[in-house]
Formats: sequence, C-alpha cells, structure tokens
Amino acid sequence: MTESVADYDVAVVGAGPTGLALANLLAGQDIRVVLIDPNKIVCPHPRASHIDDETMRSFQTLGLAEAEKGYLVMGGFDILNESGKRVFGWEMEGGETDQSWLSDYMFFQPDFEAALRGKLAASADIELMLGWELVDFADDGSAVTLSIRNRGSGVQRSLSAAFLVGCDGANSFIRQQMSPDMEDFDGSQRSLIIDVFKFKPAAGLSETKGTIIAGARPFTHIPIVSPFSRFEFMLLGDEDLDSYADPTTSYALLEPWMEPGSYRIMRSDVYLWHARLATGWRTGRVLLAGDAAHQMPPMLGQGMCSGIRDAANLAWKLALVVRGTAEAGLLDSYEPERAPHVRDLIVESTRQANAVAAMGQGVTGAKEPAGEVVDRTHSAIGQAIGGVTEWPQAGQLSPQPRLRDGRRLDDMVGYAFMVLAPGDVLSSVCESTRQQWDSIGAVLVPIEDTDLSGWLERHEVEGVLVRPDRYVFAGFRSVDQLEAATQQLSTAVFGKEMQG
Ligand SMILES: Cc1cc2nc3c(=O)[nH]c(=O)nc-3n(C[C@H](O)[C@H](O)[C@H](O)COP(=O)(O)OP(=O)(O)OC[C@H]3O[C@@H](n4cnc5c(N)ncnc54)[C@H](O)[C@@H]3O)c2cc1C
Repeated sequence: MTESVADYDVAVVGAGPTGLALANLLAGQDIRVVLIDPNKIVCPHPRASHIDDETMRSFQTLGLAEAEKGYLVMGGFDILNESGKRVFGWEMEGGETDQSWLSDYMFFQPDFEAALRGKLAASADIELMLGWELVDFADDGSAVTLSIRNRGSGVQRSLSAAFLVGCDGANSFIRQQMSPDMEDFDGSQRSLIIDVFKFKPAAGLSETKGTIIAGARPFTHIPIVSPFSRFEFMLLGDEDLDSYADPTTSYALLEPWMEPGSYRIMRSDVYLWHARLATGWRTGRVLLAGDAAHQMPPMLGQGMCSGIRDAANLAWKLALVVRGTAEAGLLDSYEPERAPHVRDLIVESTRQANAVAAMGQGVTGAKEPAGEVVDRTHSAIGQAIGGVTEWPQAGQLSPQPRLRDGRRLDDMVGYAFMVLAPGDVLSSVCESTRQQWDSIGAVLVPIEDTDLSGWLERHEVEGVLVRPDRYVFAGFRSVDQLEAATQQLSTAVFGKEMQG
C-alpha cells in the first residue's frame, strides 16, 4: 500500500476504553491518529470495574503499571440463595499468574480513562478532537472522509484518514452504516446500577469479594475500590422504568445494606444488557472494535477487557499496513482471530446471567448453572494468520516472565515482536533469519534472562515467537523449527519473504 495522502493515518472514533487503548498503541508506533469523541471530559460514571491479569498486562503496555497500587485485588464471588446460604461461587487465584500480575482486580474506570487521555494529550502523533461527533463517513477506496460536528457550536468540518476504526460503543453509528449481521445470544436483561461513595462499609457484605443474592430480585454487590461500591438490582419482566427514575426507589433498595446518611449516591442508572456479536468487522478501510463489534452481560467482567484485546490485536496490524510494510489483507485476520475468543465469553456470560435471572423469575432452589464453564480468560485466539495450527502453542496467550533483574518482560520488549529462546539457539540461526527479525524489529530475549524454564518444559517447547499483542505465533523445539516459523511469519504477515 502506498503512503496515504489523507490528513491522518487512522481516525479512531470513540474515546471509551477501546478507542483510548487503540489510539495510545498506534501513537506509540508513530502513526498519525485523530481521536474523536463528543465528551470533553471522561464519563464520571464507571461502567467497567473488573479487569483480569491479561488486561492488567495491557495496561502495563499502555504505561499504567503504577496504577495497580490503587486497584482492589478481587477475592472472588459468592452466590447466595434468598436465605443467605452460599450455593456456588469462585475464589480468584492467589499470587501472580503467568502474566506476572494478579488474576483479578477492581479499578475505577474514570481514573483509567483520564490517565489515557492525559497520555494522548502529551503525544505529538495524536490529535484529540473532544467535543466532536462523527455524523457521516465515506470510503472511496483510497481513504475515508469523515464529517464531524461540534456538539457545542454545531460547526461541521470534514477530514480524511487512511483507515477509520469505529470504537463508538454498543449503539455504534459506524456499525449501523456498515450494517453487519448481528448474532443475538438472547441474553438481554435490565439492571438498576447504583454506585455509592461509602462513609461506612455496607452491612453484611464482603469488601473484597462480589456477592450475588439470587432471590426474587437478583441482587449483586461489587466493591469497586474504596470508598466506592456498586449495587445492581435486576429488573424483572416488564417492570416499569419510571419508578426507577425516582431517587427514593434507590434509597429504599439500599436500605438493607447501607445505613441512611452513611453514603452518597454517585449515580443510579438502568442499563439494558445485550449479548450480541457482529459478523463483518471490516469493510474496506472501515473497522469496528470493542462494544461496537460485540456486547455481553457483565457477569464475567470481560466486556471492556475484550475491547482492549481488540485494540492490541489491531494496532500492530494497522501500523504495518499504514507504513506499507504489509498488505491491507493482513487486516482480514483481525475478526477471525478475535471473534471466536470473544464469542466464548459472550456465551458464558449469557449463560450465567440467564441462570441468575431464572432464579429471580420463580425458579426455586438456586443451583449452579448447568453445562461446562468456559475458561474465563486466556482462551486462544482464532488462527487466521498463516494457518499456524501446526506450531505448538500457536494462538495462545504468551506468558510474561519476570526478568532476572525483577522487571517484567514486556517492560523490556515494548509493544513489539519477540523471540524468546535459549541464548545458544538465538545465536545459531542463519543470517537470513536474523535479517528477518531485524526487519520486523523483533526483540530477542535469552531464556536464561528470565524465570520461564518451567513454563517451556510444561509445554514441551524450547522457545516461542510472540506477536506484539502477546499471542504466540509459534512455539518451536529446534533451531530449524525457529527458522521455519520465522519464514512463515514473514510470508503470512508480509505476504512475501522479508528482505534483510
Ligand atoms: C454497568 C456496567 C458494568 C460493566 N462492568 C464491566 C467490567 O467489570 N469489566 C469489563 O471488562 N467490562 C465491563 N462492562 C463493559 C464495558 O464497560 C464495555 O465493554 C466498555 O465500556 C466498552 O468500551 P468501548 O470503548 O468499546 O465503548 P464505550 O465505552 O461505550 O465508548 C464508546 C465511546 O464512543 C463515543 N461515541 C459514540 N458515538 C460517537 C460518534 N458518533 N462520534 C464520536 N464518538 C462517539 C462515546 O461518547 C463513547 O465515549 C460493564 C458495562 C456496564 C454498563
């Protein structure tokens, strides 16, 4: 692809978590980005409150590792029946996982978004157009023209970008224009979400674990980070929304848990959850990411995490295509890789949400939902690049070991390709393989510098070739296999053998 004469390389529409992560990852690769959102300040109402270890690893890549200090370590979930007896639940793993982070955290979304907006404001490669909304766009095959309107003044202007990524949320205008098929998993439900600032802890509720009471009206309490807590009350059947607009309803619902005067309501909103997956995340130069492409009930706390995974998958591919190093066809691997991963999470969160809803609709005797529970996280991505199924560990999330000096691996590697192998293997590859690594900017990490040997033994590989989004392109068991995998990466990603 030749260098674009458009105003920007990538227009990211929507500065929610997905758009902010994508814009940051692109800017870190010297791509010219415009980020457009009607909200001049971050939304003060947190939506997401939970992240997993993989997402914490992405936050690390985004320069937010320090933020962990302010996060709550999530202890697990207890699901109680109406009489308060625990019927099932789960404990979160203790200690660092193979991602070098704890398995689950609770965080305060507005602080996260504010930190990312701040980083973008300081970046020379980003233009932040806050206060502006997209009202129209057209892809003429060589660039996308965007019409944007200032929400305050009503002024309209147009700009162009080589690619447009719609990170504009569940009601995505861009998705509506693209009109992809939407698979509906029949998981729609409504909840009243009340976030409170506590002057005193809630009565009888854990401050480190989530609690679900599967009674006539299913109820969830989630400690976010002190002093914030979230109370969710599921709306039943066709209950009238108007009664929930009355603040006295919220106070009455909180009464069993919060002493009057011991808290302040930060927000009280009814949400309608959907469980949907778009088919067709790319049309020409326009792509979808985050809630614009997929939505799920909040049971697993994986909606935002999935959008961050989209951003990590897309940013390196877009950068290669924009620079002309890879063909635009590389972007066709995005949906086949990401959709199966997010699909599993939609199915599982829907199954759990519907089980809890059933308990509230007179299905007596709360019991664990039937069926096999999918891995909450860490499933493999679909295998779209180069049919890499023959390689061990292909498509799996790579581990992040600690380096001998105590740092985490990604701090050394950055958002880049990486070859993790014994030092003697790294030094015995042929010149052509070495040149191929150079041309993709791969970072070479001798395993001896890490504490990864146990993981490699368990998976019966000598080393791994890892993509910038931290997913394994190939594991290998010999120098020959490493050279062959490098060659295959070159052909799959760049459409040709890389020239040294
Ligand atoms: C109550 C609640 C609890 C949740 N809990 C969790 C959780 O614990 N963990 C988790 O991972 N996920 C959770 N989720 C899901 C998570 O919040 C979403 O998946 C996530 O916010 C999606 O991010 P996004 O950036 O894709 O979209 P959004 O956050 O919806 O952001 C979309 C952005 O696009 C902008 N926009 C829209 N239209 C236009 C336009 N025409 N032009 C320009 N900009 C536009 C909007 O202003 C907005 O800023 C929860 C959701 C809710 C509602």
